[in-house]
Amino acid sequence: MSTKVAFLGLGTMGSGMAANLLKAGFSLAVYNRTAAKAQPLVNAGARLAHTPADAAQGASIVLAMLADDAASRNVWLGADGALAAADQGAILIESSTVSPQWIAELSAAAVQRGLQFLDAPVTGSRTQAEAAQLSILVGGSEAALAAATPVLLAMSKEIVHLGPVGSGAKLKLINNFLCGVQIASLAEGLAWIERSGLDREKSLEFLKSAAPGSPVFASLSARMVSQIYAVNFHLKLMAKDLLYAQNEAARCDLDLTTALAARKLFEDAVAKGFGEEDMASVIEPLRNK
Ligand code: NAP
Repeated sequence: MSTKVAFLGLGTMGSGMAANLLKAGFSLAVYNRTAAKAQPLVNAGARLAHTPADAAQGASIVLAMLADDAASRNVWLGADGALAAADQGAILIESSTVSPQWIAELSAAAVQRGLQFLDAPVTGSRTQAEAAQLSILVGGSEAALAAATPVLLAMSKEIVHLGPVGSGAKLKLINNFLCGVQIASLAEGLAWIERSGLDREKSLEFLKSAAPGSPVFASLSARMVSQIYAVNFHLKLMAKDLLYAQNEAARCDLDLTTALAARKLFEDAVAKGFGEEDMASVIEPLRNK
């Protein structure tokens, strides 16, 4: 009999990740706050669960891919939450980008119920989620990771075990801090190029292969130029990640001044109505000044 997996959260990332679990042959129950987003997966053979608890019942692995701390708390611990309903012996996996403080609280609640817990946030975006090419950053015990590996492998190109619970969440915030600051500086740099009289294409072509070039530079500059903001990564989620990064670094007595400056750009864009667009649209308020 195939391993039963519950998947909670079918947004940009969760939809592709869950589809790959179905393709790999897992028996899948899916839950999403907006149930309509589950329909393609249900058509492909998943069971539609009407609550997180309904999804978790009978599953050996319960995995969440949700927006933020509040969404994660709601789905794991809220009314009809997944944690209280999970079977004894189940492994709970939180893959959302959330704060390490919330991971500590959630993991303690899991342990109190005698359940195993992993934090396993991912890098890669919509395309990598659809192609099972994510990198997964894991915190938790070797034993829980070994048991969860077939499920994680079905969604990823690499699994990096970093240490105890919380380790994945910490490195994920550092990763997104570095990306968020670069994207904010790219938005300012590109807005500057556009006002400077320089040839935009030539300038970007040069910069892409010069020292500042990076995968983030290449993909985000293309989206900023095309102004096609079909969502790979909701802009509002980057504002959230930078805030969580600042809070976590502060716990290590570090003041992330560059995260603060970058977050201001993302929050300005949210205030101007770009929160539900792709994060590349962070340049638009600078263009329209
Ligand atoms: P998304 O498209 O915005 O989807 C968010 C999910 O959370 C949806 O299923 C949404 O449900 C659910 N949700 C939001 N608030 C909720 C609440 N209060 N209660 C219950 N459910 C709630 O986000 P995503 O891009 O899939 O990202 C998911 C997580 O992975 C985030 O933490 C993000 O930062 C991280 N991440 C994203 C990317 C990326 O490139 N997109 C890459 C790596 C990591 P509805 O459908 O009902 O709104």
